[in-house]
Amino acid sequence: MKTSTKQKENNNGTINTTTENAKIVRKETALGNEQAHSLFHHITTHSRAVIYVLNLVGPKIDFISPSIVHLTGYSSKDILRFGEGVLERILHPEDIDVYQNHLKEIVQRTNKTVEAVQYRVKKKEGDYVWLSTNMNVLERDRQNRPTKLICVSQDATKQKETELKLAQANEELKRFAYVSSHDLKEPLNTVISLIDVIKMEMDKDAQILDLLDLLDLCTVRMKQLIDDLLSYSLLEQQRLKTDDVNLNELLTWIKQDLDTSIVESEATIHIPLLPIVRGDATQLRQLFQNLISNAIKYRIEAPNIKIKAEEQAQHWLFSIADNGIGIAEKNLSKIFEVFQKLHASHVYEGTGIGLASCVRIVGRHQGKIWAESELGKGSTFYFTLAK
Ligand code: ADP
Repeated sequence: MKTSTKQKENNNGTINTTTENAKIVRKETALGNEQAHSLFHHITTHSRAVIYVLNLVGPKIDFISPSIVHLTGYSSKDILRFGEGVLERILHPEDIDVYQNHLKEIVQRTNKTVEAVQYRVKKKEGDYVWLSTNMNVLERDRQNRPTKLICVSQDATKQKETELKLAQANEELKRFAYVSSHDLKEPLNTVISLIDVIKMEMDKDAQILDLLDLLDLCTVRMKQLIDDLLSYSLLEQQRLKTDDVNLNELLTWIKQDLDTSIVESEATIHIPLLPIVRGDATQLRQLFQNLISNAIKYRIEAPNIKIKAEEQAQHWLFSIADNGIGIAEKNLSKIFEVFQKLHASHVYEGTGIGLASCVRIVGRHQGKIWAESELGKGSTFYFTLAK
């Protein structure tokens, strides 16, 4: 292994470079050569983290701390012996590109901090360990191009395994919600048609007709629940179709959709001049529509709904205020959870999915949603959308 400095091998088979590695310590401190050496030796010998110097020519590893043996079973000496083939030898084949691309990023964005890179390293006995590594430029050539990086790696196996399990569980849950609600629709549609047939065929027995009407009502609610569940799970699965969305047009369409309930409830909706925002038009329509239809539904008297849009530094802040029944403070965060309803279905119809959908939509648009309210004094729902 060629380095510009003198190296000696210790009992563990670790190669200790002299001046070069001490520079790392001396760079930021007022330590003398000797102290810097001893501090560097102390850090690299006793730290659980693996510290290594990557020479971009090769690339190859010029120095690696002895703790690598605990993670991989390879000693520092083994790793140094791999020379220029080190990356191919120890990185998981799927992570070689990830690692190389990260190196490119470090080299190109020399003055900025680059996030840690995560990759798998092959252990001596064949399985893999996940490392999370921060890299910084240690040395540059005359043209100011980085030539060596100092890398600090931590064992990220447990964290990665948890992340993978979580992602898998989430995927399964999403599929489960979609498939089960999709499959439930089929028998339900049959039940609905059969009720109609029975109603037409049977003698007009008033009591049985009442029972069938009740059954009808239940199936309508069930159908609504399934439709809402399906659209809720689709919100997460479908790719965002981002476009310039003119909110003035969007609100005109929503008013047309809600025309019947606006007329029935004698609602007034104040809409100012609204901006054009970047987002998925279908999802944004659903967001505004859910909030406006709630403002109409949870009313005490004729709804008076005020929509506002305020331009802020990073985003637009929207608010939809009503003069409705209001929400007790203790329930203000609850209402955004899926299936959380504050009233029984025979008092206010609903599935408890509307606001949970709003949370997903706003989240997918890098925004936030919250509410302010007082029982009996109306509610204001706020949300932000990135500019
Ligand atoms: P739902 O289908 O029941 O309307 P949502 O998720 O849209 O479901 O709302 C959850 C709960 O939050 C509602 O059941 C209701 O109790 C409360 N809520 C939502 N919007 C309002 C509002 N504008 N005024 C008062 N309560 C509201």
